[in-house]
Amino acid sequence: MDIVIRARYRMKLIGLTPGAVVALACWDAASAQMIFHGPGIWPKSDGVADVCYVIRPNIPLSWNADIDYGAQLWDLASTKLTLTKHATANPQCRFNYVQKARIDGRGALLGFVERRLKTETILDCDGHLLQRVERSHTILDTAEAWFVGGAPPPNCELNSRLISVRQVGAHEFGHWLVVKHPKLVQPADMMWPFTYSCQVKNALSANDVAEVHNLYCQ
Ligand SMILES: [Zn+2]
Repeated sequence: MDIVIRARYRMKLIGLTPGAVVALACWDAASAQMIFHGPGIWPKSDGVADVCYVIRPNIPLSWNADIDYGAQLWDLASTKLTLTKHATANPQCRFNYVQKARIDGRGALLGFVERRLKTETILDCDGHLLQRVERSHTILDTAEAWFVGGAPPPNCELNSRLISVRQVGAHEFGHWLVVKHPKLVQPADMMWPFTYSCQVKNALSANDVAEVHNLYCQ
């Protein structure tokens, strides 16, 4: 899955200026990582997917509240899904095939998700066989200029390339839950693959919610 290429293609497709947007799923994250782990597209015996995540200590402390905010958005979106934060000391929080080479410095790639799949398959709601996700790993690019919280900094400049931790965190959690980018031009969606300087989305769109309901059989 090469999200960068697809994102650039999409930029062309919808006539956006490449300088004005940054592809969400691809950041430079030389040192910053958060790890989300759990059983893939995951009906449990009670029908509720139980997802836990860990934020590694190399993530700046000031980012934690925004990352948790993103997890809560998806948690609240479906009764068939829970996202729970675990302590960073969780021994399951190990994921060693990080493709750090994809990290490209400021601009372009902002962050990405790696997913480890099991050979085991399970049925989705439509009866399709899907590989079960064993765990996922989100890497964010520390070379980007980030801001935290639910609003951009005062007087944020539209060409500043200041990027919201909250919005990107929520978007990457969506990938972890196997929610795809929208096929149509739906810029209000959290899963829309671009973010803009000074932009922050504090809520999922109706489309995002419909997708997660579909995936987790609600
Ligand atoms: Zn994405």
